[in-house]
Amino acid sequence: MSEIIDRKRQLLENLKTYFGYTSFRTGQEEIINSIFEGHDNMVIMPTGGGKSICYQLPATVLPGLTLVISPLIALMKDQVDGLNAIGIGAAYINSSQQAGEHNEVFSKVISGEFKLLYVAPESLAALKGIVDNVTISLIAIDEAHCISAWGHDFRPAYTKLGFLKNRFPSTPIIALTATADKATRGDIINQLNLPNPKEHISSFDRKNLSLTVRSGTDRVRKILDFLDDRPNESGIIYCTSRKGTESLASKLATEGFKAKAYHAGLTYDERELVQNAYINDDIQIVCATVAFGMGIDKSNVRWVIHYNLPKNIEGYYQEIGRAGRDGLSSDTLLFHSYADVIQLQKFAMDSANEDVQLAKLDRMKQYAEALSCRRKVLLSYFGEILEEDCGNCDICKRPPKFFDGTVHAQKALSTIVRVNESENMATIVDVLRGSQNANIQEKNYQQLSTYGIGKEASWKDWQQYLIQMTNQGLIEIAFHENSRLRLTELSKKILFEKQKVQLAHIVTKPEKVLSAKPKAKKADTLFEHLRELRLRLSRESNIPAYQIFSDAALKEMERERPMTDEDFSQISGVGKRKMETYGYEFIKAIIGFHKNKRATSKSKIPTYQVSADLFLEGKSVAEIAAKRSIQPSTIISHLCKVYETNQKLPLDELISLDDLKAMTKAYEQLDENQSLKHYFDHFEEKIDYETIRIALTLLKVSHQ
Ligand code: ADP
Ligand code: ZN
Repeated sequence: MSEIIDRKRQLLENLKTYFGYTSFRTGQEEIINSIFEGHDNMVIMPTGGGKSICYQLPATVLPGLTLVISPLIALMKDQVDGLNAIGIGAAYINSSQQAGEHNEVFSKVISGEFKLLYVAPESLAALKGIVDNVTISLIAIDEAHCISAWGHDFRPAYTKLGFLKNRFPSTPIIALTATADKATRGDIINQLNLPNPKEHISSFDRKNLSLTVRSGTDRVRKILDFLDDRPNESGIIYCTSRKGTESLASKLATEGFKAKAYHAGLTYDERELVQNAYINDDIQIVCATVAFGMGIDKSNVRWVIHYNLPKNIEGYYQEIGRAGRDGLSSDTLLFHSYADVIQLQKFAMDSANEDVQLAKLDRMKQYAEALSCRRKVLLSYFGEILEEDCGNCDICKRPPKFFDGTVHAQKALSTIVRVNESENMATIVDVLRGSQNANIQEKNYQQLSTYGIGKEASWKDWQQYLIQMTNQGLIEIAFHENSRLRLTELSKKILFEKQKVQLAHIVTKPEKVLSAKPKAKKADTLFEHLRELRLRLSRESNIPAYQIFSDAALKEMERERPMTDEDFSQISGVGKRKMETYGYEFIKAIIGFHKNKRATSKSKIPTYQVSADLFLEGKSVAEIAAKRSIQPSTIISHLCKVYETNQKLPLDELISLDDLKAMTKAYEQLDENQSLKHYFDHFEEKIDYETIRIALTLLKVSHQ
């Protein structure tokens, strides 16, 4: 029992010392305990959920070596750099190295210099020489879905990992992934030969990601609007085609954004260049195909846009998951267009498992066209039921208004009948709206009895209604046949059996007009200052900015304004090594910013706060009074006022213990609401007004 308590204490201590965190995230502790109990573990946790700590922290406590199988060289390097930066010995072995480098790593492994060794599956064979000379206490298999052909990133070398359990039968294995449906999960466990693993499935909900879907018309302008509100924030724009990424990146560059394209058609070096520039915050936006992102651990991606509809929800969810890994709110925007759907449908029909692909695309489309909370739709795909609407998707924020759309539906369906179910959506809308274009005239559709009966609604609204009717099963789109619209069993009920239809009026945000104003300047906030400091340090030391501190840590510094070593080390994400390396610079910047602000905007800071700030810097009441030409008693009343909302102010330094004791006694005897004078008299003028005021403030706050 005491062994368990010791271990728990040790784990918590290492969590703070190395990683700078004081508590576990949901699931982490349970998973770690299960490792120590000797179980094999299958961990499903969304991106950003905190998988790495589940094996990195145990590695710091376990004897010997933790082996980490990881599929991507870039990711491996990133993790190893990160571990070394917080004082945990780690190295990697992959095909980018020479045999000599391998040997150097191995001799250090044998001498016990490393707690973790990252290995690419292709390079496992190279380990033969050392496994007999070291104790392997834990084996972690990262991105475990790569083992399964069911998953979406299948990697043949992963299928050879089954031997690990036979070779190290008593070493716990932990397999981790962010995406795995039931079939994939089963497949992973099977292929790894895990006899009886514990499965840990975390919620897939990423509350900090906002979800928005907009129609695909006029995308570039909508993107520029979006970016206008987000100067300097890092983001990714996913496009289907290589050409798409190139042309979008150059359009954004013309608008003055630091944007670059990334796709598999670039050379290895070119891709490295873009990736590194992005990681180091040298470029703001990457326009990429899905080739980008898997090897990126950047925690401060603030937004993700899908320029085109993704082909399935797994991919979509993983891609938006790259935003907001640091837990801060981040935005996602998906553009939905029918042209995309039709193209994806063609791809799917050319693929080996056409039915599966089409079904997956259909779910994606349903998500994009949802009229109820999108997060519910998304999570239900992963088998998770969300009880309440999320409040952080476009539907929750601007719920559609439903109305009796029976007449609309009847008009549309009759039109489909009149054209013998031979026309696509656009033509049906043209007929309803009484359009006079060439196509209509050629086919003589002006003669139809339904021609022009839908003038009351706009073209876009009609398109929306037809999409909704399709989703309700009232219309079928024959994608194989030029996407002509056909009737269904249900549509007959509307036409002939008076069944009612509900349609939603989509409330779109008034379109913002792109102003010609210059791009917003960087805000003069402490956060921005700290960000710049981080960027400078990152360039000087050639370490990615987010590996110095996450955005979340900088935000906390902005909020808490730590000005002493002790306060600074309380910030989440500040471990021992980070404190030693960066504490001084950051504290200096925080104090400097504070002073500067006071000097430049004296009038904006309330006078009591100015006194309190000076006091916090270590000035005495007399010094502050002299400096500000204000009575000491007034300074004390300032400090008391600030203390009521900020107990970090060391107000108790201004009163002796004896006086405080005496006052405490009096406070309990007298009614707490007595005036200062009352106390003054009570003590027969032996305790002065200032001291009474201080004591009463301390006592009132402590009794709140
Ligand atoms: P995943 O591998 O699941 O995508 P990571 O392991 O990269 O996620 O963790 C995501 C972020 O959350 C990282 O910045 C990490 O430092 C942070 N994190 C992990 N565990 C904790 C914790 N217990 N408290 C605070 N932050 C944490
Ligand atoms: Zn919602």
